Amino acid sequence: MLKGKNAVITGSTSGIGLGMAKALAAQGANLMINGLGDPAENEAIRAALAAEFGVKVLFSGANMLKPDEIEAMITDAQEGFGSIDILINNAGIQFVSPVEELPREKWDAIIGINLTSAFHTTKAVIPGMKAKGWGRIINTASAHALVASPYKSAYVAAKHGIAGLTKTVALEMAEFGITVNAIAPGYVWTPLVEKQVADTAKARGISEEEVKQDVMLKAQPTKQFVTIEQVAAVAVFLCSDGAASITGSTLPVEGGWVAQ
Ligand code: NAD
Repeated sequence: MLKGKNAVITGSTSGIGLGMAKALAAQGANLMINGLGDPAENEAIRAALAAEFGVKVLFSGANMLKPDEIEAMITDAQEGFGSIDILINNAGIQFVSPVEELPREKWDAIIGINLTSAFHTTKAVIPGMKAKGWGRIINTASAHALVASPYKSAYVAAKHGIAGLTKTVALEMAEFGITVNAIAPGYVWTPLVEKQVADTAKARGISEEEVKQDVMLKAQPTKQFVTIEQVAAVAVFLCSDGAASITGSTLPVEGGWVAQ
């Protein structure tokens, strides 16, 4: 379905982004993957994707806090593939803390990685997508783009912000064959969630098991974590021609959380 399409996915060496990379590659898309961390591990991930799915896979170590590196990533993808058809802004971090104790640099990093980086990538890919008259921009938001939880002020602000960016750019792109949507997952068991269990336990004064059952899964009527594959399947659908009339949406994939 996506053979011949070229996709850039930020934050795709782990968790949801890696799952989206696999799902798009399974449909034939070439990929530029991105992430921080150990270069040897990232190269192993890149090579494994290329070998498993038989598509071209490039890697960028661009830090989503650095606009120059973000621009260079987009230029490298454009030069490496000839064009960028699909952009998925997925890189994100979390930090759990009461607002009055939230360090200033954590606020800046969360807003920078989870929100501002999507502005830089979006701005850089639009001219090429307009020239082709086709494009898909997908932002990984969160149920926290639609509702709030305590102790996540920066994250909730960034995710509400990405929902606003999604709507605005969707309106601007509506007549150019470019759709812009966000996916709003509930709790998905990834390294990002695993890492916040201990901090949430501390902030709320409860055990780690209570965090999983009484905080995370309590919010989700299904009482199950969303899977990476379920989120990735929505991204694939949004890339399809069948989704051409869906734009400006923030689609919940959260086991009924925001229905309450
Ligand atoms: P993860 O920690 O498994 O993966 C995060 C990815 O982002 C990694 O590839 C990491 O290298 C990359 N990254 C982090 N900081 C970066 C930076 N400065 N520059 C470039 N890359 C960077 O996390 P995940 O759970 O897969 O989360 C991915 C996205 O999904 C995030 O935007 C997150 O907010 C969102 N999300 C996650 C959940 C969940 O429950 N896991 C729920 C809703 C939304």
